[in-house]
Amino acid sequence: MPDAIALRAADAISQQRLMDRLAQLARFGALENGGVDRQALSDAELDARAWLIDWACTLGCEVFTDACANLFIRRAGREDLPPVVTGSHIDTQPGGGNLDGCYGVMAGMECLSALAAAGIETLRPIEVAVWMNEEGSRFAPGAMGSSAFVQPERLTDYLSHQDAQGITLADALTRCHQRFPALPRRSAVPMAAFIELHIEQGPVLEQAGLPLAVVQGIQGVRWYQVTCLGQAAHAGTTPMADRQDAMTLARRIVSQLEQRAETLPKDELRLTFARWEVEPNAINTIAGRVTFTLDFRHADPRVLAEFDRWMQQIAADNVRVECVFNNPPVAFHSQLLAQQFACSDALNIKTATLTSGAFHDAMHLASHCPTSMFFVPSHKGISHNPAEYTDPQYLYLGAKALACCLTELANQPTGVTP
Ligand SMILES: [Zn+2]
Repeated sequence: MPDAIALRAADAISQQRLMDRLAQLARFGALENGGVDRQALSDAELDARAWLIDWACTLGCEVFTDACANLFIRRAGREDLPPVVTGSHIDTQPGGGNLDGCYGVMAGMECLSALAAAGIETLRPIEVAVWMNEEGSRFAPGAMGSSAFVQPERLTDYLSHQDAQGITLADALTRCHQRFPALPRRSAVPMAAFIELHIEQGPVLEQAGLPLAVVQGIQGVRWYQVTCLGQAAHAGTTPMADRQDAMTLARRIVSQLEQRAETLPKDELRLTFARWEVEPNAINTIAGRVTFTLDFRHADPRVLAEFDRWMQQIAADNVRVECVFNNPPVAFHSQLLAQQFACSDALNIKTATLTSGAFHDAMHLASHCPTSMFFVPSHKGISHNPAEYTDPQYLYLGAKALACCLTELANQPTGVTP
């Protein structure tokens, strides 16, 4: 049960202030269709940073950056203990909406505003992190800033990555650091906890009619590439029995995998065959070679391992199977999850349990400190789209639950057990 101070912090959250700030952030890189184009380290994103830094200063916060241009907005605690951290990202897809990432940062800032308005001091500092390049649309890969934060040696490799104009990340970072020369640089500090608040980007919460979810973890992902070999031949003259049709083989494999997947726990299963290359890809020639990809996601490492075994069994003289990407599932911190439920219960917010199907910065932070997430509903599950929308009441409830959790954690002298 959260204490009275944590509940007072939640009470001080202002829906109006939160919505105003979201609207202000949305001006940077605004598109005529209501969406936003604010890709990582673009002019629009640097302008948004400048606005955010000014705002942080008026709240009496310190602002730090690091080699990968992550921002840390710090509200001091009574003691210089490891901070409790929230936040997300303010970069967007080229035609993104106004909530993906932005909501987590604006809600974090709203928590700091609420604490200031209510005159609440906390034992530990509370920080809002703004992770650089979560979207990965300008520079690959996504979640770059948070991954370089937890593993700084990754940055060395990222520096040479180029955007579509041939600008390297190194150049874009230099420009950013030159724009904000006064920001002190800080290397990765220990953190007491990280809680990211984000829109769900899927339809589950809306369909369940619930305003909030405690996110238990992030699904593991496997990408496979399967190449089926046959013999290209004339579609009219080759009898059915004499064919080595690579497409028939590929279709059989897909149907086998779909049947097997039917036996797996369903709500967390995601199976997608989305990229196909057919050679020679002619209407009247039997396919000689078919390559397709398989994106398989599940939260349970045992299911992922079982699927790996199936994929190995498929391999044959005429079937090559490659695993081209492998990201293990992340389980968020059980003590944090319990506290998130306690806060939402105390605030009378009906809360679901979900597993994230998308990657988030929290995925990387989980290897640095006790980490978890909250989700609010996404209308029709739409995201990476100007039509991204969440009922303001839900945005408000999410920020309240976050304020309660952050304050509660920031007053714990011993912190969460890592
Ligand atoms: Zn995001």
